[in-house]
Amino acid sequence: MTESSLIGFSTGSASDATFNAINPATGETSDLSFCHASGEEVAKACELASGASLEMASLSGAQKASFLRDLADRIDGLVEQLVVTMTGETGLPEPRVRGETGRTTFQLRMFADLVESGNWVDARIDRAQPDRQPLPKPDLRSMLRPVGPVVVFCASNFPLAFSVAGGDSASAWAAGCPVIVKAHHAHPGTALLVGNAVVDSVRASGLPEGAFSLIFGDGRTVGQALVSHPAIKAVGFTGSRAGGRALFNLASQRDEPIPVYAEMSSINPIFILPGLSEERMNEVAGGLQGSATLGVGQFCTNPGIVFYPRGGGGESLVASYVEKMKETAFFPMLHQGIRNAYGEGVEALGGCEGVEVLVPAPDGSGEGGCHAGACVLSTDAESFLKNERMMEEVFGPSTLLVSYESSDDLVRLADSLEGQLTASLFGKEEQLADFGELLDLLETKAGRLLFNQFPTGVEVCASVVHGGPYPATTDGRSTSVGTGAILRFARPVCYQGFPDELLPGELKEGNPMDISRMEA
Ligand code: NAP
Repeated sequence: MTESSLIGFSTGSASDATFNAINPATGETSDLSFCHASGEEVAKACELASGASLEMASLSGAQKASFLRDLADRIDGLVEQLVVTMTGETGLPEPRVRGETGRTTFQLRMFADLVESGNWVDARIDRAQPDRQPLPKPDLRSMLRPVGPVVVFCASNFPLAFSVAGGDSASAWAAGCPVIVKAHHAHPGTALLVGNAVVDSVRASGLPEGAFSLIFGDGRTVGQALVSHPAIKAVGFTGSRAGGRALFNLASQRDEPIPVYAEMSSINPIFILPGLSEERMNEVAGGLQGSATLGVGQFCTNPGIVFYPRGGGGESLVASYVEKMKETAFFPMLHQGIRNAYGEGVEALGGCEGVEVLVPAPDGSGEGGCHAGACVLSTDAESFLKNERMMEEVFGPSTLLVSYESSDDLVRLADSLEGQLTASLFGKEEQLADFGELLDLLETKAGRLLFNQFPTGVEVCASVVHGGPYPATTDGRSTSVGTGAILRFARPVCYQGFPDELLPGELKEGNPMDISRMEA
């Protein structure tokens, strides 16, 4: 059987250029084939999105909320089918599919609540002062408005929560933008199940055709064609540094450059301060193992590097961690490309001067060629500082343990790092005052700082920041998780001298929508 892209309310035409999902756990190829979208289909999806833009922008918060809740209900109703399709395409276990379905629908409902309340628009009001000297002040009022059509690239490591109706799409729809999704080649069946639910929801909620399209095909052809199309005004992406950077460069070189919010590469360093008891070091080793191997290490916030004190209790942490990581099971990674990159990554790290392999990644890759196991390597601060290769992300369940001797070492190590999604500190509360310089530095390096907690398990809420300076993302001012994600797909518009009846409800005198506003 063959499936095609969803172009607005139509299905794309069948073609001979097809691809199939491969079960990474078994190597079996799915019976379902997917046609690569043609150039005409990509253009049609962009034109429909452009045509839907004004109507999407004029939707009230209540209308958008009703659509997002309807979609959440439909996706909840799909969970049994998702369990079958998604486990078969990704090798992820059933509880993960159920958990990720819940996270996806939670995000949709969270954005529904946000836009229904209307408070997100950052309304600012400067009333006219006709008698001001030497010049009168005009009436100025501003608020956030949608940017227009957004292209979203599905993430391989979140087939639901950062894919067709995941956080990027939900936040773009909530802002009032049409969304075109480029499916990931590793889980097209999962994408289609959710995509059909979105089409049903768009129709049932009375949203215009073009509010959503789903495109199958290669990133380098259909993905780049989407990003290059003049109708597109912003891009959301989660994946490799090479892919995100290529799309960012492409978008910057357009006649009209557009923002690309790419979440790409982070090693999420952990800094263990000296002086923790042996018992505490053991606890930290246990928590670290859970965090580093969760989902076979395929989380953006996976802690890849640990800086530990030589002497000062560090050796017991290493011994305990090595024992725990040796017991870690052998699981399939999400697809062959990720498995190959993991193998190459740990091999390259192991070959760096001054690196010792404490727990080698198990040989072999299982029935489907995608299985991988944990790997632990160690080095010292001086070797680490000499070799930039050690600072690169190895996506998977590997950890590089780096010993340091002094607090000056810690500051130099932190200073050498690139931008990160997270940086975690383990120590005693009363020590923090002595490590002020380290904390100040880490604030410049990471989007989220953690104290005595591990970085995986990102909470979806208003205060969370899932972003960080490059290369963690292409725009360190943004977050892709939580309600703040909506800000990526909105821009401020100012209305000067407008009569009250022509102003948006959010900016009218008397605050008829009862939202929070900055007024002067
Ligand atoms: P990827 O290779 O970057 O692919 C993500 C999406 O971008 C896919 O749809 C892909 O298209 C498209 N794409 C990739 N390169 C492109 C280009 N040059 N032009 C246009 N589109 C492009 O990421 P992945 O498949 O998820 O995993 C590969 C590696 O990415 C992993 O080994 C890991 O290193 C990294 N990764 C990092 C994170 C993180 O959060 N830090 C998350 C996931 C993956 P196709 O469908 O044609 O491949």
